[in-house]
Amino acid sequence: MPIRLLPDEVASQIAAGEVIERPASVVKELLENSLDAGAGQCNVLIEGAGRKTIEISDDGLGIPSQEVTMAMARHATSKLSRAEDLFHIQTLGFRGEALASIGSVSHLTLTSRSRDEEIGSRVRVSGGRIDLVEQVGAPAGTVVRVEDLFFNVPARLKFLKSDVTERQQVDALVTRYALAYPQVRFKLAQDGRAMLQTSGNGNRREVLANLYGVETARQMLEVQFREESLEISGFISPLNLTRSNRREITFFINGRWVQSVPLTTALLQAYHTLLMVGRYPMAVMFVQMDPEDVDVNVHPAKAEVRFRSQDHVFNAMQRAIRRALLAYTPVPSVLPRQTWFPEASARPIDSAWEMAAQAQPGDTAFPETQPDAAPAQEAQPALAPALPIGRLPLLRLVGQIGSTYLVAEGPDGLYLIDQHAAHERVLFERMMRYGAERLPAQALLSPVTVNVPPASASLLSEQLLILEKYGFIIEPFGPATFQVRAVPVLLQGINPEAALRALIEDFEEDETPLQAELEARLVARICKRVAVKAGQTLSAEEQRSLVTDLEACQSPRTCPHGRPTMIHLSVDLLERQFGRRGAR
Ligand code: ADP
Ligand code: MG
Repeated sequence: MPIRLLPDEVASQIAAGEVIERPASVVKELLENSLDAGAGQCNVLIEGAGRKTIEISDDGLGIPSQEVTMAMARHATSKLSRAEDLFHIQTLGFRGEALASIGSVSHLTLTSRSRDEEIGSRVRVSGGRIDLVEQVGAPAGTVVRVEDLFFNVPARLKFLKSDVTERQQVDALVTRYALAYPQVRFKLAQDGRAMLQTSGNGNRREVLANLYGVETARQMLEVQFREESLEISGFISPLNLTRSNRREITFFINGRWVQSVPLTTALLQAYHTLLMVGRYPMAVMFVQMDPEDVDVNVHPAKAEVRFRSQDHVFNAMQRAIRRALLAYTPVPSVLPRQTWFPEASARPIDSAWEMAAQAQPGDTAFPETQPDAAPAQEAQPALAPALPIGRLPLLRLVGQIGSTYLVAEGPDGLYLIDQHAAHERVLFERMMRYGAERLPAQALLSPVTVNVPPASASLLSEQLLILEKYGFIIEPFGPATFQVRAVPVLLQGINPEAALRALIEDFEEDETPLQAELEARLVARICKRVAVKAGQTLSAEEQRSLVTDLEACQSPRTCPHGRPTMIHLSVDLLERQFGRRGAR
């Protein structure tokens, strides 16, 4: 075939493929246009999960009548004129592609009246061709109605998910924009049912209730952080509210909803070791920064960004979250209040959760984290207990009970330590301390051959490099068979086969974890497997070194999986319990 320029409609359809994936993408583009037009109100009407109709109306600036047909053309935009403008974009749109793309895969009708004009105009586009332009009476603002989405691209239709899923996508999208723009009144109806209505009074927590329900919204912690030109705000879940995936983590940068791996990592690291492995926080975060510090032109749907200084944003996000976590005392207590605290006024024992949350900022297993100069306790002195924060005081070992717990005394009371959890923590921190460096490996005198299930084999093969970093030298040795040639020096004496099985125990296929998190998870899993067990009698020497090692830990109060390593019975509590004090 000779080389030809594609007809405009075909080119638009191809471009549409990148931007318009499903009904929710149409809603996103149209909402962004309304917001760019300075709308104070946006109404979204959906029928048939968006396959039948999507209609968005706003009271924004409107489009002058001589420009309405132009707005439909590809690369037609009022938001950008020179290439330099790309580097300080203040609007959500700038590519001039949305209307053209949507118009090429649907029947699109745009009715608009500029605030400066008396009469409005209407254009209709079907499958990329303008088939109607007329003048009409219309209120100031713009209405875009999209019917029969993908009527001419049956392949796309087949890729759509169930109506329930497509509807949820739209709900989630509109609700998040409502949250990002609390001063705009949003209304969303699906098949005549009101799904969302916000007041536009600027109160984000009110909108949050629409997203998570009233009870959860009430519990979400507020984040406020400012550093030079960078401003971070939003809501994060307390430690007792978690999800099994990271889908409830949302970032807006300069009012734009984006997916950001570095920001997600920063957020997760701030929660690191405070949540059980495999549990994720919920968060809706808003970052405001100088538009010149962020490149928004890296993704056709503008869903990704690039930062000029990624480290700066990353660190700021991590500190913002950490600080917010520290500022609030989570409520759950390890012990039931009723049995232990007959008088309701007594301050309950500080649970390990609480203590973990009060750990020092920068108190994570990732050594690169900078300690934070201004712990947030200052802001809420009532919440700062007399107990030590984060690290442990020097302890005097009393002994082992039930071959499971160690009993120790500190200046501030009695500590009951779970030997298994404590040992996990000690091993975990030792291994993670190596950071980017390789952990020294100890070659085995005779390599151990291990046969693994075929499904795990391919997953294990992908992890061999990471494992090598942690001192495990493992080589493929025939189908579904591996040979362990070396183990980390730190774990000398462990059973290599048990360690390898621990590694592949629960490889998850559904989600690709982030690198740092994956490593932490692998290490946590190894530590769990090789740590001393409950029911294992320890010699006096072993008991003592475990306590000493724990004292040296950064986050001694939780195991790497987030469970408490100890219960602290403070002097104060003991005195109350024995009726020496308190019932005054
Ligand atoms: P972009 O948003 O990237 O500029 P679009 O194809 O989404 O490209 O829109 C093209 C142009 O049409 C916009 O630049 C804007 O001038 C105009 N426009 C689109 N929607 C609206 C709206 N709701 N209100 C006012 N003007 C609009
Ligand atoms: Mg646009």
